[in-house]
Amino acid sequence: MVESSQHNLPARMRVSKSLPMISYILVLALYFSFYTITPISSHSLQDGFIKCLHKNTYVDFPLDKTFFTPERNASTFIEVIESTAQNSRFLTKSLPKPSFIFKPIHESHVQASIICSKKLRIHLRVRSGGHDFEGVSYVSQIETSFLLLDLSKLRKIKVNIEDNSAWVQAGATLGELYYRGQFLGGKGTLIEVMNKGFPELGLTLKDCTEMSWIETILFNGEFPTNTPIKALLQVKSPFGKPSFKSKSDIVKEPIPVLGLKGIFKRMLQDQEQPASFLAWTPYGGAMAKVPESKIPFPHRNGTIFKILYNTDTEKKPTRHINWIRDLYSFMTPYVSSNPRQSYVNYRDLDLGKNTKNTKANYEKAQIWGTKYFKDNFERLVRIKSKVDPGNIFRHEQSIPTFPV
Ligand SMILES: Cc1cc2nc3c(=O)[nH]c(=O)nc-3n(C[C@H](O)[C@H](O)[C@H](O)COP(=O)(O)OP(=O)(O)OC[C@H]3O[C@@H](n4cnc5c(N)ncnc54)[C@H](O)[C@@H]3O)c2cc1C
Repeated sequence: MVESSQHNLPARMRVSKSLPMISYILVLALYFSFYTITPISSHSLQDGFIKCLHKNTYVDFPLDKTFFTPERNASTFIEVIESTAQNSRFLTKSLPKPSFIFKPIHESHVQASIICSKKLRIHLRVRSGGHDFEGVSYVSQIETSFLLLDLSKLRKIKVNIEDNSAWVQAGATLGELYYRGQFLGGKGTLIEVMNKGFPELGLTLKDCTEMSWIETILFNGEFPTNTPIKALLQVKSPFGKPSFKSKSDIVKEPIPVLGLKGIFKRMLQDQEQPASFLAWTPYGGAMAKVPESKIPFPHRNGTIFKILYNTDTEKKPTRHINWIRDLYSFMTPYVSSNPRQSYVNYRDLDLGKNTKNTKANYEKAQIWGTKYFKDNFERLVRIKSKVDPGNIFRHEQSIPTFPV
């Protein structure tokens, strides 16, 4: 669930082989020794995982291109972790790293990884673009031994103009997808709309720059003028990786002058470069016409706009994090309440965290779950309990299962 304005944020944020009995016994032995007697080395765990993969896929995977461990090559291992980790706040040495990384090159490798992580009881984190605001796709703070399934090599895009469909593999970047282009409207139409809705702004043709939709992606991404659109195909952003902490709010009533003054005062307190910022995204319109229960995203009718609070944490992280928490607390009377709502794509672990895989997570998750999903949270828990009763896919804010 990604709103179309992904790049409107400032750039600075910016195999089936038969199973020989002998190895089956070996896997069982590994499993029991790891979980009930003494921990086995990460080396045997990796070997066990590779063997298990071989048994569950018919497509070969050259280990040097798909499997990364600190023991084999520490610098390549770190390079792979960092390659698509988009928030460098989660790249500090003290944060737990995966025991190993597997990069599938075929869909069947994904299935095999899930089967094997379940069999060998290795916690699994899945990473597509690595943009999670709280890094949950590549850092596990609740379970320290885990494997990273990095989907960056599965990046095919198939656009079918005839049936108006697009198939996008999980590892593709938005740049690669957007490269396939589009058209939204000309400046004449915009002037008409603006003169009707906001004549007081006095917008004229001179104020507008007409460009193709794909060019707006470069423009909003703050690429220099005349950058060729092929730049969007670069998998690596030319702007480096920000280190940041964000929070969000949903606003239902206009913010009074007193509130605005309080915001400005606090903004001026945190203007070291790169400065903190707020992004206000207007809601309503077509979004408000969709019933809240249609899809998990519930912020529909009655929402005026969404606030993204963002602070840079590269330097003095504690100070900046305290600052953003103080601003969030100040905003309480001016934003949605009961529950105070948030946007799941701007994940915020201050709202609460699951602990290690336990049924007791349900109660805690209700707090942040209803902020992100309102009444849809209960339905999501129902679905989760049905399709993933063992809670294989979990992280600090994943949907929990119902307690038994
Ligand atoms: C610089 C920046 C700008 C952003 N701008 C916007 C914006 O304008 N609007 C907006 O709405 N959001 C924005 N986001 C947030 C972003 O859209 C969300 O974090 C989104 O979830 C990122 O998807 P990803 O695949 O890159 O994330 P990842 O970090 O790879 O994954 C996110 C979560 O999904 C899980 N996951 C990943 N792949 C799969 C899969 N194939 N199957 C099942 N689970 C999977 C992961 O385990 C993790 O829990 C921005 C983020 C960044 C860092």
